[in-house]
Amino acid sequence: MKHILVTGGAGFIGSHLVDSLLKDDFNVVVLDDLSSGKMENLPDDERLHFIQGDIADHGLIDEVFSQFTFTHIFHLAAIASVHESVTNTYRCHQVNCEASLYLLEKARKCTALKRMVYASSAAVYGDDPSLPKSEDSPTRPISPYGIDKYTAEQYMLTYNRLYGVPAVALRYFNVYGPRQNGGSMDGGVASIFLNKFLSSKRPVVTVYGDGQQTRDFVYIKDVIGATRFVMGHETAAGNVYNVATGRETSILNVIQGLEACTEQKAQILFSEKRTGDIERSFADISRLRALGFTPRYSLLESLGEYVASAGEIDHPQAR
Ligand code: UDP
Repeated sequence: MKHILVTGGAGFIGSHLVDSLLKDDFNVVVLDDLSSGKMENLPDDERLHFIQGDIADHGLIDEVFSQFTFTHIFHLAAIASVHESVTNTYRCHQVNCEASLYLLEKARKCTALKRMVYASSAAVYGDDPSLPKSEDSPTRPISPYGIDKYTAEQYMLTYNRLYGVPAVALRYFNVYGPRQNGGSMDGGVASIFLNKFLSSKRPVVTVYGDGQQTRDFVYIKDVIGATRFVMGHETAAGNVYNVATGRETSILNVIQGLEACTEQKAQILFSEKRTGDIERSFADISRLRALGFTPRYSLLESLGEYVASAGEIDHPQAR
């Protein structure tokens, strides 16, 4: 029997991907250490085989590859915290970079493998000021996290050139949606704010800086759409693609969007700009479009759906 491996499959993006694969009747193996992923993100399904373990454990990876035959590998497992990559750099390097290289070594010997997809990040662009960020823009990562993502991504492309591993790297921009951890510092600003809107009728949100800083916010459904799209696309291997919307949205715009969806008014606390914060970011997505994929969700539309999926909001009149 053939399987698809999803590392980090119990996490925010990984679990949505697993849902989508199961819907299409694939047999899925999830490898996740549950350090940030959660079992409750995964459905109870006989086509899903869950392995709890560390992606950096070579013995475990050897075992997994001897037990299963993979046609596709989605490599999403990572310590997705820029902050932790600064405080715990070596461990993050083992998980975010070295483990990816080991996985490539296994993939290289996997004769049934049709596609390997690596979850890279807009963090590879770092503080390079050119906009919009295209895949050919300079890469100037400013954190160990960004360096590890970039290095692993380049290993994917190099293993494609050297050994024909059918690997693709996707640079995810600011992904948001249900199951994102809005409670932590690393949850992503849209989810952090959404949590505030859901937990109080008078949400108080903290904005670092003046709120004019921008990001390219891409909804989880578009991210899964793009990820599934490159899974089957013949000419995608050996390339890197931005996964984003191509739209520039400020932090204040996100708050306005949430206010419109929830009919609540936020109180904004302005705080000092974070060190290392990037001022503006949005993507050129022409390469992904040229491949044939176009994102569908606008911020307002997706925030509306996100809010609805996250729970009931009291109507303002009910306050
Ligand atoms: N941000 C904010 N309030 C928060 C969390 C984040 O103003 O509660 C800002 C953060 O300083 C940054 C932007 O929102 O300028 C996006 O932050 P996030 O961590 O979501 O993404 P990244 O900066 O890694 O692109």
